[in-house]
Amino acid sequence: MVHRREFMLGAGLLAGLSALGWRVAPAGAEGLVAARQYAVGDATVTVLSDGFISIGPDMLFGITPEDFAMMLEAAHLDPASFPAAVNAFLIDSGDRRILVDAGTGTSFGPTLGKLPSVMAALGIDPASIDTVVFTHLHPDHVGGVLAEGGNPFANATLRVAQADVDFFTNEDIKAQAPDGFKPFFDMAAASLAAFGERVEPFDGVIDIAPGLTTMPMPGHTVGHSGLLLENDGGALLIAADVIHVPAVQLARPDVTIGFDTDQDVARATRQRVFDMAATDRLMIAGSHIALPGIGHLERAGDGYRFLPARHQYN
Ligand SMILES: [Zn+2]
Repeated sequence: MVHRREFMLGAGLLAGLSALGWRVAPAGAEGLVAARQYAVGDATVTVLSDGFISIGPDMLFGITPEDFAMMLEAAHLDPASFPAAVNAFLIDSGDRRILVDAGTGTSFGPTLGKLPSVMAALGIDPASIDTVVFTHLHPDHVGGVLAEGGNPFANATLRVAQADVDFFTNEDIKAQAPDGFKPFFDMAAASLAAFGERVEPFDGVIDIAPGLTTMPMPGHTVGHSGLLLENDGGALLIAADVIHVPAVQLARPDVTIGFDTDQDVARATRQRVFDMAATDRLMIAGSHIALPGIGHLERAGDGYRFLPARHQYN
């Protein structure tokens, strides 16, 4: 039962908020922007959703289909059509605007390629990005610079690990790759070319900007790199592709994915990064962790659990 007085109060509150300039978003898809914003020190990090891709048990190593189904059901997910998130990240420090990865672009079908519309909804002009960092050169991280109208990040310098540049532009390695992987090499090369002269590869640990440091996390690709943002007492580790299926790999960090260049190194890197994040109580973000895409890791049994970051009230 709704009391009339409460209803009146509610209506009055809405009218008051409107008078203060608040816009009450309409319900439905157009009213929802698939992004989350967090302050890290005095920088703002925006998790930008590009959409989702489906990852099934046939793409994983080290787990049976039965165990996969059991773990997804335990996490209240549908094992038959498991949607894995694809995120990019914007780090805005006031004087720098750094985009970490660029989404899939138009090459992955209708569930992906949302990054441009999400950025537009947030009023982020691609031309205002001064630096794009590719955590690695896989298509779901670089496809967004291969837009039909040209690279939308027209003023950005690209930073990417030299090891990935060397790997994905090596014709001998490409020739030996399975046919299904060959387009990865073509897209990687095209994404580098999209920045023309504005490509500055890096080796190992370097500062991309004050307080933003690369952190090698090899295995998924040879040059796969996370980023550690430390700003005015806040810290965030963008761990990119150390995890693809949280419902499985948190509890079972030993499980790897077919896209890993080196399964053993990828597994060791995941265990090292998880251990560090849990031990240091470090806020962590993942390219394939569903929104908010950011949170904390805790030890749980022989593995870990993820605690998504709560909404940050301003
Ligand atoms: Zn990925």
